[in-house]
Amino acid sequence: MLLDQPIHAWVIREKQAIIDCLRYFIGIDTQNLAPKGNERAGQLAMAALLNVMGCTVDVYDIKSVPGLQQNSHYWSERPATGRPNVMGIRHGRGGGRSLLFSGHMDTVPAGMDTWHHLPWEGEIADGKLFGLGAYDMKSGLVASLMVVRALNELGWVLNGDLMIESVVDEEYGGCNGSLAARLKYNADLAIVPEPTNMIICPAHHGGLMFRVTFEGKSGWSFSPEHPVDPVIALAHFVRLLNDWAAHRQRTLPVPPLYQSNPQLPVLVNQVMAGDVSLPFFADRVPGQAWLTVWAEVYPGASQNEVLDDLHAYYKLAQASDVVLAAFEPEITPIRWLDGSMIASHNPGVQLLAETVSRVTGRAAQVQGAPFACDGHIFNLYSPTPMVLFGAVGGQPHSPDEFVVIDDFLQFVEVLIHTAVQWCGLDSTEVNNS
Ligand SMILES: [Zn+2]
Repeated sequence: MLLDQPIHAWVIREKQAIIDCLRYFIGIDTQNLAPKGNERAGQLAMAALLNVMGCTVDVYDIKSVPGLQQNSHYWSERPATGRPNVMGIRHGRGGGRSLLFSGHMDTVPAGMDTWHHLPWEGEIADGKLFGLGAYDMKSGLVASLMVVRALNELGWVLNGDLMIESVVDEEYGGCNGSLAARLKYNADLAIVPEPTNMIICPAHHGGLMFRVTFEGKSGWSFSPEHPVDPVIALAHFVRLLNDWAAHRQRTLPVPPLYQSNPQLPVLVNQVMAGDVSLPFFADRVPGQAWLTVWAEVYPGASQNEVLDDLHAYYKLAQASDVVLAAFEPEITPIRWLDGSMIASHNPGVQLLAETVSRVTGRAAQVQGAPFACDGHIFNLYSPTPMVLFGAVGGQPHSPDEFVVIDDFLQFVEVLIHTAVQWCGLDSTEVNNS
């Protein structure tokens, strides 16, 4: 096609600049230390680059968005002060469809586990670029910026508006940044470059984070009143969770987009019992033990379905487990995120599939994403349909997170093509370039 050669040539020519830009953003610490955030420096850098590239830029305090704090999806426990959203618009000449690339600037914390490639150095080894947020999702933000740069340098003005957005506070189940953004700006299609390994994902999981608390009776061996150890019950409960996960996997109907990857993880995140501040041991059975659990769901599931299913499963287990039979734990929801989906025949999904196969030479894969994110804010609570499509890499939310450099460059190329095709470009523009 007419456009393939100039776009491919631009990516090859600018390869080093594209990699350097990603290393630059990895070098900015934007850890989400929930409930507080640290995105500001990254957001200002994003805004500065969008400005230099001639976009109309809006850096806005999310709380200033009318209706945000009254919205039922607003999460008031997450402070928004000093955490601005950024929008950059490369205006079209009119008459075309608008396209939004929407990413989040925050990363999870670097964590306590050892990194072999430092989190903010952007080290390169074995064709991979390492760093906190390299995959989730500074690669996506940088690729979006590179689309604007490419169009500028190719001298192409699209018909529809191209919108580049960086929101705050997405990790840890945050949605306030996206919610504010959707209350302020919408588009005919959004591509959210969460890490999907260049699989096109018109659907994504939701999930429930919940806490389970077992109350026992504190004491020690010589106590005339026998202590009741809640940790033993907690241990039985962890085994039950494992069985519950398998039960859900067996019994829940698998939506078509998840047939090739029908995984619904149930993950224990924290376990707490006893006074762990004491240096050796505590010399007593703790009075309470709790754990936090993340359980994923397919699009369309509700929080109550998850809780009812777990309560019923626990009740059933009590019939054959004398330890669990003696406890009625308190199960408290902490955070619910909806799953969501758009139709696979959505023209944006179709266009991405065509573009991926054109650029990579391989058939595009269309599947549901096996993770929860802020995508439901688009698909369920805004007029902007959203599809997830992101870079190839690994180790998200863990040490030595990386993107594969060659695939990243192809990813940039796919996004440029997609923007041009979606927003529209007069062929006279191409002939003049
Ligand atoms: Zn992410």
